[in-house]
Amino acid sequence: MTQTDYKNAVEQLKKYSYHYYVLDDPITTDEEYDILYHKVVAYEAQNSSHILADSPTQRVGDVPQDKFDKAHHLSRMWSLEDIFNRDELETWVNRITKGYGDVRFYCEPKFDGASLNLIYDNGVLVQAITRGDGTLGEDVTQNAKTIQSIPLSIDYSGRIEIRGEVVIFKEDFEKINEDRLRAGESLFANPRNAAAGSLRQLDTRITASRRLVFMPYGIGDNTLELKNLSERMEWVYGLGFRNPHMTHLCTSAEEIETFYHEMRVERDNFAMLLDGMVIKVDAIAVQDELGYTVKNPRWAAAYKFPAIEKLTTLREVIMQVGRSGVVTPVAIVEPVDIEGVSVERSTLHNFDEIERKDIRIGDKVIILRSGDVIPKIVKVIASERDGSEQVISRPKHCPVCGSELLDEGALIKCQNMGCEARVVNSIIYFASKACLNIDGLGDKIVEALHQSGMVKEVSDLFSLTMDQLLSLEGFKEKKSRNLLDAISAAKGCDCWRFINALGIEHIGEVASKTLCGAFGTSFDTATREEILALEGFGGEMVESILEFVRVNQEKIERLRTILNPIVPIKIEAAENPFKGKSVVITGSMSVPRDSIKALLEELGAKVASSVSKKTDYVVYGEDAGSKYDKAVELGVTLLTEGEFRNLTVLSDEAPTAQGSSVKPKYSLFD
Ligand code: NAD
Repeated sequence: MTQTDYKNAVEQLKKYSYHYYVLDDPITTDEEYDILYHKVVAYEAQNSSHILADSPTQRVGDVPQDKFDKAHHLSRMWSLEDIFNRDELETWVNRITKGYGDVRFYCEPKFDGASLNLIYDNGVLVQAITRGDGTLGEDVTQNAKTIQSIPLSIDYSGRIEIRGEVVIFKEDFEKINEDRLRAGESLFANPRNAAAGSLRQLDTRITASRRLVFMPYGIGDNTLELKNLSERMEWVYGLGFRNPHMTHLCTSAEEIETFYHEMRVERDNFAMLLDGMVIKVDAIAVQDELGYTVKNPRWAAAYKFPAIEKLTTLREVIMQVGRSGVVTPVAIVEPVDIEGVSVERSTLHNFDEIERKDIRIGDKVIILRSGDVIPKIVKVIASERDGSEQVISRPKHCPVCGSELLDEGALIKCQNMGCEARVVNSIIYFASKACLNIDGLGDKIVEALHQSGMVKEVSDLFSLTMDQLLSLEGFKEKKSRNLLDAISAAKGCDCWRFINALGIEHIGEVASKTLCGAFGTSFDTATREEILALEGFGGEMVESILEFVRVNQEKIERLRTILNPIVPIKIEAAENPFKGKSVVITGSMSVPRDSIKALLEELGAKVASSVSKKTDYVVYGEDAGSKYDKAVELGVTLLTEGEFRNLTVLSDEAPTAQGSSVKPKYSLFD
């Protein structure tokens, strides 16, 4: 890097920082920023006399915005030195242990949000200040007071600064962006920017509506006598702040590395984004001796996780036709590696969204892949356009069968019932786990069966012969026999599976079970009023059933004759604490959750997926998270798996809220 390159890089980083810290609207990914930042660090290490005073290595954050009153922190706030791999960790740990021998390191999650400093005086929250440039930040006290997890008063009579990260849950981030899309507003690139942007709102009501969460990570100015950070943090949690639950004291680089990998495994189970693990020297006396650089404490480091956001280019948009005929646009991007997975596709939801986000072919885009969530394009970098990008137009004809499409705004549909894509996808759905659960009938085989002309619709599956299968590529005797047996085993299925497998729009497993319970296999003779009277059935569902029955009477009849579904005889459950109750299961259990669900259903309970005021019990396992928290908030009775089992065998006495036991070690806010 020449001196000119260095100066340009500093200018570029300053521009990135301004968009990131001041506007909460980044124009590149953190990864791109970090790569350039480290080039600047390397240059400065070789050319210390050329270091520019406004280089990002010499300062924390950016200048606070004018729209808020500015406020001074009582003691400075800092950034963190980054560590990216095991070697860098060893070097960092050695640097400290060399001078101090046995040192303990307090490790905790690095939540990705916005830093906030809370000043309490005589037990009362008097000021909340953003980090700003570390010395001077923005006074956001009124906004901070709307955050439920920030206590307005604490049991402490001195003056103290409690520091932490303001974050937003991933699911709330999605909701905010959906609302903003509908309102035609620009989108937040990621949960961090959504948290920072929501905290720095002039209208306090907007902050209040965003469900921000404060995760404490440290203490600034204070007069505490506790000698270790770990003790101080326990004290902070005891004041009523949230506990991150995944903290650990380590004594060597090896232990830190192990805990780091454990945390990486759990990363996706946290409700908020984590971008790394923070390692801090536990003894305050050692921290004080190590001191600070111009930017970071020498006693702390951020061991970064691999980036989940990447910059890439949109190559093309292809159309997929689902079993209901809905045409979904899918983005094909320049392949990028995210956490070891090569990402090439991303959902675009629908054409309205393409228009609202103004996505064009050839655009530079930020793509985010968090855990098993489908990768999505979170932002278009419009400033990078060179004019060659192409606008994506709404399709007029089905990409598979060519018939004219029905454009209903958000949804575009192929109405041709015989469209190959619709037929193939409905057969795949018919055989899937939640329907007839036919083993060995995967996507590829269904496509081959359809292409060969042997299976034109689902009922053809049941007249397949050995000879037919043997004529297909890759089918030998054993595989063919297994498939025929699996298809045959679908006969005599539970009635609800038959209803679910029909693929009626808006009717899933739960609704199918209700229909089966009320009308048995002849659900198709039920009237509008009868269906509407069922619990959980709204107008849209009823119309969907009636329309399906009208158009597909013959198909229903044929499948009913072939499958001969059975209606399980309902044996009235004996009296027990769960009979007629609404129960939610969360966290991991010693056995698959489905078997606990089945047991509860046998006991006459209704197993729901989310906690509400109507929930009677929450049965929780090891890594229970947000459902557990919600249950605590609503005062729902909590049961461990063991307590639940005891109640199913020992007594018919209803458990009470006091019966709930200790919260699991790690709360991952699922
Ligand atoms: P940082 O976010 O990497 O680390 C320091 C901050 O981490 C602290 O100030 C605190 O807010 C937070 N934190 C979370 N958990 C913590 C814990 N347990 N203990 C202590 N602190 C904790 O540093 P930074 O200076 O805020 O930002 C630098 C980073 O921001 C860069 O490395 C880059 O990834 C990103 N950035 C991106 C752009 C962009 O355009 N995409 C621009 C500027 C900066």
